[in-house]
Formats: sequence, C-alpha cells, structure tokens
Amino acid sequence: MNPRIEVGVLGATGMVGQQFLHLLAAHPWFRPSWLAASERSQGRRYSEASPWRLDTPMPDSIGSQVVETATPGVGPKLVFSALDASVAGELESAFAEAGHIVISNARNHRMDHVVPLLVPEVNAEHLGLLDRQAPERGWPGAIVTNPNCSTVALTMALGPLRQFGLRSCLVTTMQAVSGAGYPGVPSLDILGNVIPFIAGEEEKIETEAKKILGRFEGGAVRAHPLDVSAHANRVPVIDGHTETVSVAFDDAPGFDDLRAAFAAFTGEPQRLELPSAPAAPLMYLDEPNRPQPRLDARRGQGMTVTVGRLRPCKVLHWKFVVLGHNTIRGAAGAAILNSELMAAQGRLG
Ligand code: NAP
Repeated sequence: MNPRIEVGVLGATGMVGQQFLHLLAAHPWFRPSWLAASERSQGRRYSEASPWRLDTPMPDSIGSQVVETATPGVGPKLVFSALDASVAGELESAFAEAGHIVISNARNHRMDHVVPLLVPEVNAEHLGLLDRQAPERGWPGAIVTNPNCSTVALTMALGPLRQFGLRSCLVTTMQAVSGAGYPGVPSLDILGNVIPFIAGEEEKIETEAKKILGRFEGGAVRAHPLDVSAHANRVPVIDGHTETVSVAFDDAPGFDDLRAAFAAFTGEPQRLELPSAPAAPLMYLDEPNRPQPRLDARRGQGMTVTVGRLRPCKVLHWKFVVLGHNTIRGAAGAAILNSELMAAQGRLG
C-alpha cells in the first residue's frame, strides 16, 4: 500500500480548518503534516491556538502539532486553503508561484477564467482549465477552488436539471452560523432572530452558479445562460444551509421527470469510487417537512445534499427545498473531494 501523501492546511485554526483536520485525520490518501495560520497562532500548539469547536473529538495527532506561519515554499506540495478571504488572494497566488497545488475554499480566485470552480459531480471536466492555467500564469503550482457554501448545494440540485433547459432560478437561503467562521456572528445578534443580509453572498451565488453549470468548450468555461436571483439570510442554526428554490425551464418537465433526474444523479466521484464520494450525492426525501438541518445535514458523512418538497410554482415552473452541510460539502469536504478527483486524474504529480 502507498504511504499517505503529506498535505498542509492553510487557515488550520478556523472553522473550516478544523473541519479539514477532522476529515483528513482518517483519510486513506492524505495525511495533514503541516498546519499554518496567521502570526497570532504561530509557534503555539494547535490545541492552544485553536480550541476545538466541532461536535466530533479533536483527532489525537493534531493537538500537539505546532502551528506555523503560512509561508510559501514551506510545507508539502499539496495544501488545502481555509484562509480568510482578506489574505487568501495574494497568499494563494504566492503558494502556487512557489510550486504548491492549492485547493481553496476562499472566494478570491473562484471567478478567474483559468481557475476551476469545481463541484466534481457537476463539472469534473472543468479541471481541464489547469492545462491553460500553467502557461497563462506561469505558476509551477496551481489553484483549484470550490464554490461558496450555498452555491455548492444549489448547483448539486440544479446539475441534474440542466437537461430540461434551466432558464431562471430564485433562491432564498437560510444559512447556519458556522458559515460565518469563528467567533462569527455575535449571539445577541442571531439568537431568536434572522439577519436578512450576508455581505457579498447573493452576488457569489448568482455568479458562481453560472460558471459551475457552464460548459467546458475549447479550453474555456462558457457560463450557463441561467439567470439566478438570490436572497441570503443568516439564521440561528449551527450547521447546514437550507435553501428554497424556484426554477423556470425552457422545456418544463413533469414531476416524475424531475424526481427521476434527482434520483439518477451521480458523477465522476461515484464512478471513480473516490474516498469522500457519498454513494448518493443527492437524496430526495418524501416526508413533507424535510429536509431539516438538524436531521439531514450529516447524511452521507455531510457530503450528501438533500432535496424535498418538490411541487409546482405559480410564478416559475417548479419549487423545492435543498439542504447542504456548509463546512463539509460546502467547504472542507468539497475541497478534499476536489483533490481526490485530481489525484485520480494524475494531476497532483
Ligand atoms: P475563520 O474561522 O475566520 O478562519 C480564518 C483562518 O484564516 C484562521 O485559521 C486564521 O488564522 C487564518 N488567517 C487569518 N489571517 C491570516 C493571515 N494574515 N495569514 C495566515 N492565516 C490567516 O473562517 P472560516 O469560516 O474557517 O473560513 C475560511 C475560508 O473558507 C474563508 O475564506 C471563507 O469565506 C471560506 N468558506 C467558509 C465556509 C464556512 O461554512 N465557514 C464555507 C465555504 C467557504 P488565525 O486563527 O491565526 O487568525
């Protein structure tokens, strides 16, 4: 058996960083050997720099590791980035320039025309952008991104519906507080309350979805013509973003067509049997009051997106509810699945 590949985690002390360490601890291919964060955490044992906040125990091997500064050229070739967006843009470029393969959660490079914005079940072929990235950027390394946490769940649900001609989509999100990082939203702002604004979120959903659902043609991604209108809300839920979605189609399908499309949805991760690939990337729940974050966000180890309440919409054609685990399928788990796909395609070499 081959030894596990050593990987680094940039932003290891944050909410997403902890989820990376949880998911990587028992990963069959990768071993987290280098933890990096800001100068605030540098030189401290991980358990002191980042008190554990997940509802799973801190992996034994992590607590005594010393956190280092995020210095390009230091650390393993493959690095996962959970860096704050205020620093991720320049730092991730510097890492790629120093020869690292950066698998990023941050927003900064997602819409770059030579950077793949991956949801492996939906657009695995977009990894072909890496063949342009190397000559155009001149980086010996590379950057690959995963989408905003709400956009992942939305595009997983819309991906199988592309065959009916997606025309327009109205999505309203109810986003968990773990999506705001740590310490995130003050308790007095969010308890018993709903905040109808998350800075930059609606724009990200509206633009990223078009790139993800777009076709890869002639070495470029042609954005999907779908129009997306998003309302983003922060709600007092710990994990799991719920989204109510209405969709209009060019060729309006029937209930059974949509139901069958959700049920049949599968992709490269399932075909390749990647370690983090859930057997069912989408699961439709027939109960009239599902999906719910507390009951359904952890399905498929947090990698399955759940859908329910499919019914006719009087304004657009059909409406339904979507739920995804924001720090797993919407962040760390998504990035790990991206790197598994790259490994399977021989792109980590
Ligand atoms: P967070 O809890 O605020 O963590 C931010 C991380 O960035 C910390 O490890 C922090 O280190 C590090 N950092 C800040 N400034 C730095 C610097 N100058 N140099 C090196 N490291 C620095 O945020 P998060 O929720 O984990 O999110 C991380 C990234 O993932 C963000 O870009 C976010 O937008 C994206 N994302 C988050 C979610 C989610 O559900 N939370 C989902 C998708 C994408 P210190 O602890 O040392 O300050």
